[in-house]
Amino acid sequence: MTKAETDNSNLRRRLSYVLWPALLACAIGATYAGMRADHGVIAFNVTYLALALILGLLERVMPHERTWLKNDGQMLPDLAHTILNKGAAQTIITVITFMGIADWLAPRSGGWWPAQWPLFFQTALGLVIVEMGLYWKHRLSHEWPPLWRFHAVHHSVGRLWFFNTGRFHVVDTVLALAVGMPVLLLLGAPREVLLLTSAITAFIGILTHCNVEMRCGVLDYVFNTPTLHRWHHSKKLEEGNRNYGENLMLFDLLFRTFHNPPRRPPADIGISHPMPETFLRQLQVPFTRQPL
Ligand SMILES: [Zn+2]
Repeated sequence: MTKAETDNSNLRRRLSYVLWPALLACAIGATYAGMRADHGVIAFNVTYLALALILGLLERVMPHERTWLKNDGQMLPDLAHTILNKGAAQTIITVITFMGIADWLAPRSGGWWPAQWPLFFQTALGLVIVEMGLYWKHRLSHEWPPLWRFHAVHHSVGRLWFFNTGRFHVVDTVLALAVGMPVLLLLGAPREVLLLTSAITAFIGILTHCNVEMRCGVLDYVFNTPTLHRWHHSKKLEEGNRNYGENLMLFDLLFRTFHNPPRRPPADIGISHPMPETFLRQLQVPFTRQPL
């Protein structure tokens, strides 16, 4: 190895330790700055697109798994699911419905929500409360066959990369939205907490799916990270039916589903049954008699 190659490899190694916390902190900071200027939703969307672009570039420069750079022929369905989920379902449900309800309900909630706390602690509390619903919804989606029929669309990919983060059956997405945020709404959480909690969920989501070499060390015991999520996408059920946390690993640690052995996660990921190739057939398949 030449000196330039050694320097390059050292730089990538150092970067792999700082990228995950640095990108997440910058994304949250940018969204927060937008909120302070009364343009939180726009700031979140612009930040999310910028993060996607950065991760897409980094995947070319320092991929975790070179074989995952190859085209799997699923870009069109991935894009269509993403537009339906992030563009339509999440905008209608989170931005219009949930935030509208929060604006009305928060001042009338009777003081259940600790609105006097600094926003940082309110958001941390929001993340833990939302995670309770998300953990059990995700775990049931793997362990209860009727829900697996929807969730299998997400797990049917043979590679992980930033582009297929939003590849979920829309029913799967609506269920996830239904089990998390409404609890915060009922407790009287304000719009800022909803926005930050949703934004952090989206940022952690794209970071866990990206094919960039990242090492998170002790953060693996707190947050859902790329390494943990690669185990979750394993074809082997004893590895895949683990790490259900969407943002936090708290409930995986509590309910003994945390999985992070000291070796490389599998590159051969996916599901053991067939999945249709096209977007429309993928939307239909949970409602058919096809065994999944
Ligand atoms: Zn899953």
